[in-house]
Amino acid sequence: MPPLPLEFIQSASDLSQLPPSQSEVTVVGRSNVGKSSLLNAIGARKRLAHVSNTPGRTRLLNLFDIEGHGTFVDLPGYGFANAPANMRASWQAMIEGYLLERENLKMVMVLVDGVVGPTKLDIQMLEWLRACGLPHTVIATKHDKVKSSKRNKRKREVAEKCNLEEGDIIWTSAEKGVGIDKLRGLVVRWLS
Ligand code: GDP
Repeated sequence: MPPLPLEFIQSASDLSQLPPSQSEVTVVGRSNVGKSSLLNAIGARKRLAHVSNTPGRTRLLNLFDIEGHGTFVDLPGYGFANAPANMRASWQAMIEGYLLERENLKMVMVLVDGVVGPTKLDIQMLEWLRACGLPHTVIATKHDKVKSSKRNKRKREVAEKCNLEEGDIIWTSAEKGVGIDKLRGLVVRWLS
């Protein structure tokens, strides 16, 4: 499957600024999990260089159109170690507001670092999504960085910590292209 044509539409600091969409998927994860790399791998992003170079944009909701399929929303990364508490709280409110109130949200992709494994914040996010009954899928990143001799064990560990079956987790490597085609297909399916 070719890269998904992700066309940047707009950034927003608040849910109310987002235009309505027919069908939408979104992606969350702690900062440094590999979100930008993964998005670059699954999509051909137009007009995005400009966006990523704008300071502060990574703390906003960034909305893309996937031509003919629906909308993709990139949520700000959570868990910035040095962020002051009030700033963390406002990001959290923005993310939760978006997730709870966005109509036509078909899937929340939760990125988990395949090397580090699920962090406390990742587990909290998963428990919260479950409690709210929001559809979600765990995507493990950086598959290539896990030694091949350790991969089976790591896959079991990640699944156990997330309280999921191994087969529920999509393993990816933006660097080596592992799982990228599969993920493109899933995004299109979730949106349809
Ligand atoms: P973000 O903060 O979640 O957007 O994370 P980035 O995409 O900027 O990635 C964080 C770091 O992890 C960067 O140094 C990337 O080069 C590295 N990285 C991301 N994905 C992969 C991957 O699949 N394999 C490897 N080896 N490194 C990766």
